[in-house]
Amino acid sequence: MQNGQILFRSTNLRAPAVSFEQALLKGIAPDGGLYMPEEIPRLTQDEIREFSDAKYHEIAYAVGRKFLAGEIPDEDLQRIVIDAYNYNVPLEHVYDRKYVMRLDRGPTASFKDFAARMMGRLMQFFLNRNNGKLLILTATSGDTGSAIANAFYGLDNVKVVVLFPEKEVTARQRKQMTTLGKNVTIIALDGKFDDCQALVKQAFADSELENLNLSSANSINIGRLVPQTMYYFYSFAELRSGDPSEKVVFSVPSGNFGDLCGGLIALNMGLPVSKFVVATNENDEYPKFVKSGFYEKLVPSLNCISSAMNVGHPSNIPRLVQLYGGNMDEHGAISSAPDLDRIRKDMYAISITDAETEAMISSAYKKYGLLLEPHGSVGWAGLQHYLRDEGDDIDQLYISLETAHPAKFPEKIREILSFDPELPPSLQGLEEKEESYEHLPTDYKAFKDFLRDNY
Ligand SMILES: *Cc1c(COP(=O)(O)O)cnc(C)c1O
Repeated sequence: MQNGQILFRSTNLRAPAVSFEQALLKGIAPDGGLYMPEEIPRLTQDEIREFSDAKYHEIAYAVGRKFLAGEIPDEDLQRIVIDAYNYNVPLEHVYDRKYVMRLDRGPTASFKDFAARMMGRLMQFFLNRNNGKLLILTATSGDTGSAIANAFYGLDNVKVVVLFPEKEVTARQRKQMTTLGKNVTIIALDGKFDDCQALVKQAFADSELENLNLSSANSINIGRLVPQTMYYFYSFAELRSGDPSEKVVFSVPSGNFGDLCGGLIALNMGLPVSKFVVATNENDEYPKFVKSGFYEKLVPSLNCISSAMNVGHPSNIPRLVQLYGGNMDEHGAISSAPDLDRIRKDMYAISITDAETEAMISSAYKKYGLLLEPHGSVGWAGLQHYLRDEGDDIDQLYISLETAHPAKFPEKIREILSFDPELPPSLQGLEEKEESYEHLPTDYKAFKDFLRDNY
């Protein structure tokens, strides 16, 4: 181990600490837990101030380097972030000092591109160095799958299998995955997202599949968590007033809580955040937990229009619990309670109904010309609740995250606003491409046989 190298430890505490490379390539720790940095690296306020004149990839480099020091040469990391972040991150002014950060300009028009592109390039770097091979298994509720498939598409040392719930993704989301081919295989499951996730988890735990070199690229992979800290630093750097004591409020539409955990890690690294608004759809297990202190997962999860957030037990919650001094296993059992007072100080959690999500798409557009899709609308609606409950301060900086491009949800936008959102270049030409995908029942044996027969 080199000086300054950070080790990564499982949230279940029953597995040895590993390097970033090992955590990245493994995905899940052998004890079923999630990898977390043993110690969260800090940025000084001077370092954070210097970000104000920096480009996105420069901030990504400075933040990423804190986690990767000693594991990857600086020039390689620099090359990776320049290559991964070759698109814009618009910060749209809405009113007063309220902004929407559009994380939807990547190749699959979802914020998951930020994490997937960086993770794919990091994996490629380490695999090339060791002549390794991997089979990436991923469950998706819509956007992860296409972001992952695109991030790994065409690489020769990685194959990808994506499971999606057939009835829970839009035609456009499906086509973003099923029109790729090559090293990417897509499977439609006749179940829910949680079923897809359960099959993937079971495959990882199955010793008979060990020779397949399975790895996860879901939001639990540490290689996705680290990149999700970067845009919090970037948006604050771009929009800060210059007052050295300034703090920002972020509103984060949340499902599996990877995005939020990225923000919480940024906070622990030194980013001055006064509050995270944690906005969920009707899957309200987390807002309920913050209120009552009792965690109960929602089984089955509810089907809401912000479909990428239909999660009844967010897989990143054990990380959040650990950041607040507690311990939770992957099933949601708490063996040591987190500091709820500190959670409530840092987070305002709110569940937004579908009816309100739709109403907000309409009113944000009519009032401010702000075009939101269902996930971003949940975030923006969450912020409005926060402003009503805690007061609206016109001098305060508020940033709400838009996590997908409205053109990914044309049916909803047309129904509410009576027009078709313009397609970003990355989504053009999709209709004409040919689809190819498999169908499987929600049955572990069938899935396992498929993997054994094909890999
Ligand atoms: C995945 C996703 C989310 C939720 O992000 P988490 O990190 O799972 O909380 C929100 N919006 C969109 C569009 C997504 O694809």
